[in-house]
Amino acid sequence: MKTAIIYHPDCALHDTGGYHPERPERTQAIEKALRDNFADKDIYWLKATPAELSRIEQIHDQGYVRKVEEACLRGADQLDHGDTHVCVDSFAVARLSAGGAMLAVDEVMQGKARNAFSIMRPPGHHAEHAQAMGFCLFNNVAVAARYAQQQYALKRVAIIDIDVHHGNGTQHAFYKDGTVHFTSFHQYPFYPGTGSRSETGEGEGVGSTLNIPLVAGAEYEEYQLAWDAEVEPALKAFQPELVLISAGFDAHQDDPLANMRLRDEDFYKLTRLIKNFAAQSCAGRLVSVLEGGYNLDALARSTVEHVQSLCDGE
Ligand SMILES: [Zn+2]
Repeated sequence: MKTAIIYHPDCALHDTGGYHPERPERTQAIEKALRDNFADKDIYWLKATPAELSRIEQIHDQGYVRKVEEACLRGADQLDHGDTHVCVDSFAVARLSAGGAMLAVDEVMQGKARNAFSIMRPPGHHAEHAQAMGFCLFNNVAVAARYAQQQYALKRVAIIDIDVHHGNGTQHAFYKDGTVHFTSFHQYPFYPGTGSRSETGEGEGVGSTLNIPLVAGAEYEEYQLAWDAEVEPALKAFQPELVLISAGFDAHQDDPLANMRLRDEDFYKLTRLIKNFAAQSCAGRLVSVLEGGYNLDALARSTVEHVQSLCDGE
């Protein structure tokens, strides 16, 4: 089987205006790098389709979804805080981005793909129930996790967030849930401020949030140590039936927005840890969803390492 790459040329229509780190060239650079480096025997390409609003509204407030649509169509250029910029096409592209993550789930759950990577933007993991945040409109990975549960009757789904920023929106979506386990590796203290060790879930969700805050300057070895000591044991105990990766590449040492020291090949190794776990835990069912990564060259090289790892045998 092959790895599915979910993409759409309309990602370029989400115009964040002037110089903005979360820009159309990101997904274009990834697409070019993957087309240049992978043959048809290893990967296949599928165009994303828009998420139904009812799927997005499993994670987001209905009034918020309407507000995003209305703001985009009326020509607003930002949603809040000044860092989440939009244009007239952004609502449609955000639906595609969420739909891309769902399509990746379909390909894997229906046994069509060995695993899948959705290279769509805007990213999603900062988006809260009723608030856009940190370049994110809708929480793609959270929408996909809930979709997987509802469409394929999965009881337990794990999300592993390797973006350098804490996935606050994803954590909050499932904080009291217990059926979705959320792990985040991130620089801390750092934007968005959440992600301390003491945040472990509430109610039914106690123990299903695992934060791995790492100090600025951390290298791959620290990720590996935390994986071995804490993350893998927790995930083994949880026994997920599907693993999702919130795949941010901004922990790269060349990234302009953060201060970690991962190198290109570390994304291969990190992906391999997760992939090997998925192979043991859930027949290899693994879906990766793009989040951040803002140095175009480092982003392109890192995603090649990521996909190489998704394609390789154990
Ligand atoms: Zn990030």
